[in-house]
Amino acid sequence: MESNTHKASQQLMPGFEPSEKDLIDRALAQPLEDKIRRSIEMFRLYEAGALRMSPDGYYLAFSGGKDSCVIKQLAIEAGVKFRPVYNNTTIDPPELIRYIRQHHADVSWNNHRTPMLRRLVETPNGPPTRLSRWCCEAYKEQGGKGCLRVIGVRIAESERRARLWKEFQPHRTSGDAILAPIVYWTDEDVWAFIRSRNLPYCELYDQGFKRLGCVGCPMAGPAARRKEFARWPGYERAWKKAIFLFFAAWKGVPLEQPYWEKLAPRKRYSPLATQFGIGTVDTAKEAQLLRCPIGTQVRTQLHWWRWFEPMKSPQELWDWWRSGKASEGEAQCFQEEMMMDV
Ligand code: SF4
Repeated sequence: MESNTHKASQQLMPGFEPSEKDLIDRALAQPLEDKIRRSIEMFRLYEAGALRMSPDGYYLAFSGGKDSCVIKQLAIEAGVKFRPVYNNTTIDPPELIRYIRQHHADVSWNNHRTPMLRRLVETPNGPPTRLSRWCCEAYKEQGGKGCLRVIGVRIAESERRARLWKEFQPHRTSGDAILAPIVYWTDEDVWAFIRSRNLPYCELYDQGFKRLGCVGCPMAGPAARRKEFARWPGYERAWKKAIFLFFAAWKGVPLEQPYWEKLAPRKRYSPLATQFGIGTVDTAKEAQLLRCPIGTQVRTQLHWWRWFEPMKSPQELWDWWRSGKASEGEAQCFQEEMMMDV
């Protein structure tokens, strides 16, 4: 299929090669009506492939956020077969859950046996940080394997997404195809589309929330998280309790080699970690690759290296996580790029 960017390049002055940024800017600047038409065409174009992969057609990742409302409506207007699925993280805002139940009864719920905060306590990963987002992988990205997935990611949301996302591309780990039909839509496009169809949306947007998703996620950044915890203090208490229980359960507990070996093939930083003996990470690059703060002690070989080990008490871990430091760093993991519509 001719890409947006290629089409845009044909309209530029002959003899001049547009940069990637030029092409993206042009794609973002297209009129909304053209974007709608293109999105619908894409849905139709890939439908046969989606049906070959699953009799249900597209697997549409539906979070209840504004972007997923748009992709669901586009799929309806395209007249294609699809299955909208909500991956229940168990810590989404109650208003969002209520909205999904009220307005999207056709959405399937992908529930997990273990709520996220209980899983935090029961596994040795630690509370999620920008550099360690095991829960996204476990709770948001598992659904739709083997299907043609549709997600509401948009490059206008971050520079990183602009570097990495196209309208149609394979998942970087599983290789499954992913369609991102509104990847070049702006915020204004999304709201204009919602208003033009009079689509219901979650009330939280009108109350100043720009991002809807897991309450307390460090990816939201410190200011947004403060706002979330002020609004839903019960969630903050639940996170704190889970982090204290986690610390009591896992601090200083050596992980056996088999566990480490099981994780190793899936974690691209683990072979690097083996190059360090008992010691301290002392450069920003190493710290980034190892997903830990500078100065963290690294233990490898028989003990799985864990970033929270230098913390002396659960209160210290909680204060660190709550302070916003867990939101820092340039993510190097796949989850960062695969977050859907948050
Ligand atoms: S959005 Fe945040 S809290 Fe929710 S699953 Fe992803 S990393 Fe975890």
